[in-house]
Amino acid sequence: MKVALVTGGSRGLGAAICRELAASGCKVFVNYARSEDKACEVVEDIKANGGWAEAVRADVSVADEVKEMVKYIEQKEKGVDILVNNAGITRDTLILRMKEADWDAVIDTNLKSAFLVTKAVLKGMMKKRWGRVINISSVVALIGNPGQTNYCASKAGLIGFTKALAKEVGSRNITVNAVCPGYIETDMTSALPQDVKEKMLEAIVLGRFGRPEDVAHLVEFLSSERASYITGQVFVVDGGLSL
Ligand code: NAP
Repeated sequence: MKVALVTGGSRGLGAAICRELAASGCKVFVNYARSEDKACEVVEDIKANGGWAEAVRADVSVADEVKEMVKYIEQKEKGVDILVNNAGITRDTLILRMKEADWDAVIDTNLKSAFLVTKAVLKGMMKKRWGRVINISSVVALIGNPGQTNYCASKAGLIGFTKALAKEVGSRNITVNAVCPGYIETDMTSALPQDVKEKMLEAIVLGRFGRPEDVAHLVEFLSSERASYITGQVFVVDGGLSL
């Protein structure tokens, strides 16, 4: 049984990814920072469907918390086979109004976290000569979005990280890929003003917002044996928004 760790697995895309990986037969560690109740709901849901899951708390932007979390998983389950770097936040505002703290919080949570968690689990993957790292970027990393210079920089950073890491660890049979969702209905997007949502919908070729499962299906495929010859790639799941 493969062991998966999904950062930010308590809500939204992360929760759907946890459910999908568990349904495919993985043992899933559901990471959360603040939403303990939500993480436990995901775990209970997976167990009720016959799967294996456990919630693990860590703020993934804090090195010591990441080390503790990974140490716990390694002691319990001999390491992580599949890592999904999904945890993310927004602190949207135009650059002239953006505070340094807004910049730092987004870069630390969305980008530095991937460095910290990947570094912590990688030795185990190298020893086993098998691993999957999937980084959840965003379509705005590719096309930009006003009011999101910090967010777009963090998500574009994840793409560079993905490609460099893929070249570093390919010889150990570890694949590294990035997934770029478009507009997916979660807590993150529900906060957007109605007029922004309506404008966005007009640009989506398939005429609907995405569902967390639309992204989770691809993540599950990339984490599977069937995707063993795919690495360093960037996959857009946006219903045609970026066309
Ligand atoms: P969401 O509903 O706001 O959920 C965010 C998740 O990240 C929560 O589980 C949250 O956990 C976790 N998280 C935040 N800060 C964390 C930290 N420091 N340490 C650990 N976990 C942390 O967001 P979402 O829409 O599902 O987005 C998930 C990922 O997809 C993000 O990286 C986002 O940028 C990306 N994405 C989303 C969309 C979209 O349209 N929704 C589009 C493109 C990309 P707690 O609640 O426990 O803190």
